[in-house]
Amino acid sequence: MVSFSAAVRPVVSHFQRQLVRHTRSPRMTPVRRCNLTACSSKYVLSQMHPMWQGPLVVPGGDRQSPIDIAVRKTVFDSELKPLVATYDPQTCQQIWNNGYSFLVEYDDTTDKNTLKGGPLKDKFRLCQFHFHWGESNDWGSEHTVDRRLFPAELHLVHWNSDRYTLFEEAVMEENGLAVIGVFLKVGKRHEGLQKLVDALPAIRHKDSIVEFNRFDPGCLLPANIDDYWTYHGSLTTPPLTESVSWIVMKQHIEVSHDQLAVFRSLLFTSAEEVQKSMVNNFRVQQPLRGRTVRSSFTPFLQEAP
Ligand SMILES: [Zn+2]
Repeated sequence: MVSFSAAVRPVVSHFQRQLVRHTRSPRMTPVRRCNLTACSSKYVLSQMHPMWQGPLVVPGGDRQSPIDIAVRKTVFDSELKPLVATYDPQTCQQIWNNGYSFLVEYDDTTDKNTLKGGPLKDKFRLCQFHFHWGESNDWGSEHTVDRRLFPAELHLVHWNSDRYTLFEEAVMEENGLAVIGVFLKVGKRHEGLQKLVDALPAIRHKDSIVEFNRFDPGCLLPANIDDYWTYHGSLTTPPLTESVSWIVMKQHIEVSHDQLAVFRSLLFTSAEEVQKSMVNNFRVQQPLRGRTVRSSFTPFLQEAP
C-alpha cells in the first residue's frame, strides 16, 4: 500500500480528470435522456451501477460504443496496416479501484508507450488499461462478435500525443483516443495477468490505490495483433465522447476461471458502504447507425473486393 501522501496526488489528479470529463462540452450536440433499453425498466435500473442511474445525459451522437460486430457486414480494408505497440513496463505506476473497474495507470508524460500504425495516422500514448466483466462466464464483454458474448474485455486506452498535450484535451476531440479491445475467454491461466491478479486484493474497495510497477501491458495482447476490426466510436463510460478509434482484436486471450473470480471479488463500494460486488461493469450495446466496421483481414465468408 502506498503512503497517504503518495496516494493523494494521483487521486487528486484523477478527480481533476473526472471533473474535466464532466464539465467540458466541446460540441453543442443535442442531449437526450438515457435511451438505453435497460433504463426503461425500473427493476433493472435499481440493479445498475450508480454511474448509469438517471437522470443520465448522454451525447446525442451517432457514434456510440460498444457495438455488435456483425462479421458478414464488416468490410476488408487492404489499406489497414499492422499495429505497432511499443510499451515500457518501467512506466507502470499504480492500480486504482475507481468504483466501476480497476485502472492500471502508466506515466504518460513522455512517448514511452506508443501505439502507431493500424488505422491510426498519428502516434498515441498509453495512459491506462482496465477491464469489463460479468458476474458469470456467460457474459461481461462490451463488444460482441456476431452477438457472441465473452466473459470479459480488456481496454488499453491511448491518447493522440501528436495533436494534443494532455489526455484531458484529447478525450474531448475527434481522433483523440485509440482504444484496443481484447476479448477474454475462460481457459488456461494467463501467466502475465497473474501479477496483476495478485495485487487486486489490496484495492478491493472503491477509491483504493496501490503502487504497481514493472508491468508490461503488451503481455495482455493476443499473439496475433495483425487481425482486428476497427470503427469510430465513443468511450463506454461518461462522458461518452465520440473520440475513439476502436481497434478490437480478432484473437482473444485466455484467463482462468480463478483469475476472473478475483476480478469479481473487487467491490463497487467503499469500506463504509454496504458491500456490492464489482461485476457486470459494462455498458449496454449501442446502434451502429450507418457506421462501417472495417477489418484488417479477409473474413472467411467474404471475398476481398
Ligand atoms: Zn473500457
